[in-house]
Amino acid sequence: MQKQTLLKHWKDQNLFQEKYLQAFKKVKRENFILKNYQNEAYEDIPLPIGFNQTISQPSTVMIMTQTLEPEVNSKILEIGTGSGYQAALLSLLSPKGKIFTTEIIQELAEFAKSNLKEYENVQVLNIDGSKGYKEESPFDRIIFTCAIPKIENFILEQLRDPGILIAPIGDKISQEMIKITKKDLQLKKENLGYFAFVPLKGKYGFK
Ligand code: SAH
Repeated sequence: MQKQTLLKHWKDQNLFQEKYLQAFKKVKRENFILKNYQNEAYEDIPLPIGFNQTISQPSTVMIMTQTLEPEVNSKILEIGTGSGYQAALLSLLSPKGKIFTTEIIQELAEFAKSNLKEYENVQVLNIDGSKGYKEESPFDRIIFTCAIPKIENFILEQLRDPGILIAPIGDKISQEMIKITKKDLQLKKENLGYFAFVPLKGKYGFK
């Protein structure tokens, strides 16, 4: 599939607001995937990025991005940098904000850093993101791009009020996408359907 075809398909279905389509248009997904898969850059499928990890399929990234509602100056924490593609989209949508993205596999953190060179408001951290990133908290937005067993309270504490968190929660096979909105000390929870992500590792990840 061509990039234009995928965009037209989304437009016809009226799935995403224009600003998200524009961000998708700008980021070159082909620059975030391995050479062997270049021809498949705009197929709506996940692709291997090495180390048993994947870059999520474009429509999933778009759904998560739109659900996260990044604002111009949002301070965002991502757990699971992978290729850096999700962080690149967020960078364009929050140009006056800052994206802190954490990756536990050193080689992938390096891969993402080189892919994200031109995205100046993104910082890639080679750390265990299952603990969040207290040093820079609170965050306006928190996004898990790997499956998590549950949301730990200390993660919710790293989310600003008001703030939005999104995470695929479940077991290693399938997860429900959960959106948590924090406002006036209250937490509101919404379910967005089922997805399949690679599992969170590290201290608070799957054993
Ligand atoms: N957002 C990525 C795709 C993420 S795949 C993209 O746009 O390409 C999930 C990633 O989470 C993998 O790279 C995996 O290594 C990473 N991961 C798993 N456990 C982690 C942890 N505890 N801390 C940080 N990253 C983790």
